[in-house]
Amino acid sequence: MRIVSARAIPVEIRLTEPFAIASETVDRVDNVFFRLETDNGIIGWSCGAPDTVTSDTAEQSMHIFNSVIKGMLEGSDPTRIHLLNELIDGKVHGNTSTKAGVNMALYDILGKSAGMPLYRLLGGYRDRIETSVTVGINPTDVMVQKSREWVSKGFNCLKLKCGINPDEDIDTVLAVRAAVGPDVKIRLDANEGYSIDDSIRIVHILEEQGADMEFLEQPTKAAYLYALKEVTGKCNVPIVADETALTMRDSLKLIRMEVADVVNIKLMKTGGITNAMKVNTFAEIAAIPVMVGCMNESMGAMAGGVHFACAFANVKYADLDSTLDIAKDYVKGGARFENGFVIPSEEPGLGIEVDVE
Ligand SMILES: [Mg+2]
Repeated sequence: MRIVSARAIPVEIRLTEPFAIASETVDRVDNVFFRLETDNGIIGWSCGAPDTVTSDTAEQSMHIFNSVIKGMLEGSDPTRIHLLNELIDGKVHGNTSTKAGVNMALYDILGKSAGMPLYRLLGGYRDRIETSVTVGINPTDVMVQKSREWVSKGFNCLKLKCGINPDEDIDTVLAVRAAVGPDVKIRLDANEGYSIDDSIRIVHILEEQGADMEFLEQPTKAAYLYALKEVTGKCNVPIVADETALTMRDSLKLIRMEVADVVNIKLMKTGGITNAMKVNTFAEIAAIPVMVGCMNESMGAMAGGVHFACAFANVKYADLDSTLDIAKDYVKGGARFENGFVIPSEEPGLGIEVDVE
């Protein structure tokens, strides 16, 4: 089997409402779709979500794909994924969202040619995983209202964005806990917004007040490994590394230095499934569980995260909810939500149908 045509198609995706985290607010995002066609008629699809975290843009993604990656793919055997991954990683620095989209499209072809859904082809540990739904930063009453809405739709796990005003964050978490009751899981994600002292104080106050949070994600600046390590050492709730775990090398370093309790793997950060498997493996060997998260992604990309999360035992948490915030996606299938769980498609490959042409 050979790839006869490799194309990149940029798409602008509108969100249902502006989404605010500690570091930015967005109301529309760029995704770049990748379409790989083989000589036996299989079409592999996926997409990348360029982002400030991964320091890439749609223009850059189109440029690097058309000038370098396209030529490496066309004429190649799409099932030799590790070889293609090595070749692309060797030629292209960064650009991990582009690499992720291309890598997932190769796995889509693999699944289609095997006639199996990707999560089962990768190991099939589970057939669904509970996901959090994310509530962006807003005044407390708005965040309480949003939280109530998600819970009324059957979700049992909330991820509250925080990190701009620590005292307001404490009020918000306590108000949300009071509104949703004791059985709903509450996670916090500060996106690097806290100092070491803020982080420790907030965790302790919320513990004393019985807010019962599941974990605190990326409280301190990504680059300050010792800050995150100090917070992890002084808090009882698990501390999750997200922005600190940007590259594979970052992840290895923070696992070896025991900087955090959990690593948030995003396929857009690792550059796809092949590299995400490596991060998950060395986390598992170090007895560190992982979360699988997402950027502002169409189902074209998020489906890859869902299949990945279901394939591996060491994935303890999932935050795979980006499609819930999209006004109109260009993708059908891939995964669906049911009772707070996200369930991968049983169709071959990623199981997505894409309409961007
Ligand atoms: Mg995060």
